[in-house]
Amino acid sequence: MWCIIVHGGAGLWSEREKFSIVKGFLLKSLEAGASILRAGGSALDAVVEAVMVLEDSGVLNAGVGSYPNLVGEIEMDAGVMDGKSLRAGAVGCIRNIKNPVLAAKLVLEKTDHVLLVGEWASRFAISMGLPVLNFDRNASLSKYRDLVRKFGEGDTRYKSNLTLYRQYPSLFHETVGAVALDCEGALASATSTGGLALKLPGRVGDSPLIGAGTYADKNIAVSATGVGEYIILLGVGVRASHYAENGLPANVVAERVVQLLTLNFGENSGGMIALDKNGSIGISYNTSGMARGYYSSKMSEPHVIVP
Ligand code: ASP
Repeated sequence: MWCIIVHGGAGLWSEREKFSIVKGFLLKSLEAGASILRAGGSALDAVVEAVMVLEDSGVLNAGVGSYPNLVGEIEMDAGVMDGKSLRAGAVGCIRNIKNPVLAAKLVLEKTDHVLLVGEWASRFAISMGLPVLNFDRNASLSKYRDLVRKFGEGDTRYKSNLTLYRQYPSLFHETVGAVALDCEGALASATSTGGLALKLPGRVGDSPLIGAGTYADKNIAVSATGVGEYIILLGVGVRASHYAENGLPANVVAERVVQLLTLNFGENSGGMIALDKNGSIGISYNTSGMARGYYSSKMSEPHVIVP
């Protein structure tokens, strides 16, 4: 059997006019991953392909559609993990690269490292021949001009950044991710994001941190979304792995992890997709919505829900 789950981020989904567009891209993403899995391809290739579709959509906070940081620049994070080999690759604060998830996959495949960050992550991606992208800074910034002003009036320390997210939950959502199970029984995970909008320059979130926002082993694959700092502080990916090791199915794992997020950091802190070796699906979040979809060899067509 094969199975794939994708998400387009947990958060406050308020722009109704976007729902059907996002739904279309999630379907496209599921189809892209499924065509690899159906043909006997690997879970790793499937999640990367699925995430690339979402990075290229321009309507989600990843790749072309990434939100700007506090100084109006785009810095992106992405991570991938292959549960079969227990190998991972990730990039943090990467700039001007069209598909950060591909850069993450190349870190896994071509280096002995797990995480490359900043300018040298971009240089690595370019040296590997990945397409460069120059973002239209003005277009993405205009949306946030008001918030930048509000933020500028206050303290610019990290803490007030989190206060701002509480006030404006729409500042974190639309991160993208995928988890898959292939016909050989291998699991993989991928997550890609522009991070929290108006984040401090240089901030790295949970998505490229293996064991936090992205994780896969022989039992389970997970991709988290929400306030990255909270996801990092709880080591959400590693916890999910421990729960699965103790025999819990993916649906219970996702519920428990999100319960922990709620218990420690309150509502509106995040969500998770999880897939286990038996093909059990877990989707959980404590925000008002989470765009998500799934498709398996047991289904006649993919199922997508936005938000
Ligand atoms: N987890 C992401 C981050 O903190 C944001 C999100 O999921 O929307 O970078």
